[in-house]
Amino acid sequence: MNPLFRNALPILTKIEDAGYEAYFVGGAVRDHLLNRPISDVDIASSATPAEIKQIFPHTVDVGIEHGTVLVLYHGCSYEITTFRTETSYKDFRRPDEVQFIRSLNEDLKRRDFTMNAMAMNKDGAIIDPFFGRKAISERKIVTVGRAEDRFTEDALRMMRAIRFVSQLSFSLDDECFKALENMGHLLTHIAVERKCAEFEKLLVGNNRNEALQFLCMTNLDYYLPVLKTYHKRIDRVAQFDNHELSIDEMWTLLVHLIEIESSSLESFLRSWKLPGKKIRDIRQIVHWLCFRLENNWDNQALYAAGKSYMINSERVFNVLQGKNTEADINNLLKRYHSLPIKSKQELNITGTDLMKLLNRPPGPWIKETLTKIEEEILEGRLENEQVKIREWVNLCNLR
Ligand code: ATP
Ligand code: MG
Repeated sequence: MNPLFRNALPILTKIEDAGYEAYFVGGAVRDHLLNRPISDVDIASSATPAEIKQIFPHTVDVGIEHGTVLVLYHGCSYEITTFRTETSYKDFRRPDEVQFIRSLNEDLKRRDFTMNAMAMNKDGAIIDPFFGRKAISERKIVTVGRAEDRFTEDALRMMRAIRFVSQLSFSLDDECFKALENMGHLLTHIAVERKCAEFEKLLVGNNRNEALQFLCMTNLDYYLPVLKTYHKRIDRVAQFDNHELSIDEMWTLLVHLIEIESSSLESFLRSWKLPGKKIRDIRQIVHWLCFRLENNWDNQALYAAGKSYMINSERVFNVLQGKNTEADINNLLKRYHSLPIKSKQELNITGTDLMKLLNRPPGPWIKETLTKIEEEILEGRLENEQVKIREWVNLCNLR
């Protein structure tokens, strides 16, 4: 048994000893059957949140109204969710109200896809009322019940379907595909943040090319921020080999290939409600990618880009060139590490030093002079030593 499951076994046992049922459920069971690495172990139980809190002394109420309690146990934390049904769906979103129940099968029935609707008990036996194992062996994404009904209840499931195509390299069963074509418009009811989270998982999945093609074939992209305008260009992204790129690098590849104008880049990224820091990072990577498409790296550019943006943009550049990346990146890293300085803070002179040295009041000349000094040092024409820099400044001042 996977160590993540093994470590969590005492949780199942304790709940059972108290007279309730408890199982591993959801993605962890699916990934275990697929021999994929498991990220987190979810537990479902017939015990209500109040009952769980009586069994375990250390808990956190993370989503008690949905039946989820976080149990802290031996340095790890486990989400335990009470068996529940979701009866009244409002506005094509998951309901605010849920009903706690004592039946595992009913709980599995509310789950989205058959591969996600299995449970595993403490002995490793699989409970699979909807034939999730069959779907897994056929590598098929099949909804629990009628696809159109399930997507109408909660439209986010459509995005989940396509991101699983990308993550698991599964295909959509025919009914699921048709329902995506018919029900896509319901995605307008889903919060951008939630659609974005699924889209990002899609972008970094191994099978992202096929997933992006499905996204376009089913027109789901019409209901994602701004993508409708670029519908015809999205499959350009799918023309490149599936190199492993980080999520920021994938955003960069996407905005480059669908040709988002640089003046619209910020608003495009904002429309996805991405965090400010991420938007700044992606803009920088796009900037250095544009540089790289026109130039080779020189010391000034390596210095100005900095290590991370240099690597990110070079990796995207290499994908665009259809090249293997690692050797080039290692060479660039060597060059970066041998730069005489990596940042302004490493300069052995400050603005105050310059004012004293030349006996001049503050002004734009300070920044200009420091930049010139940086340039000289980076080009190897000047050593980063106080005395040498002072000599150089005095000489320039005389000229
Ligand atoms: P991941 O590996 O990305 O965590 P996951 O399948 O575990 O994938 P989660 O969002 O962690 O996805 O959800 C855990 C489980 O909850 C799912 O496996 C599924 O059974 C159920 N689930 C999640 N979202 C939905 C949904 N929108 N509709 C129905 N069931 C859902
Ligand atoms: Mg999960």
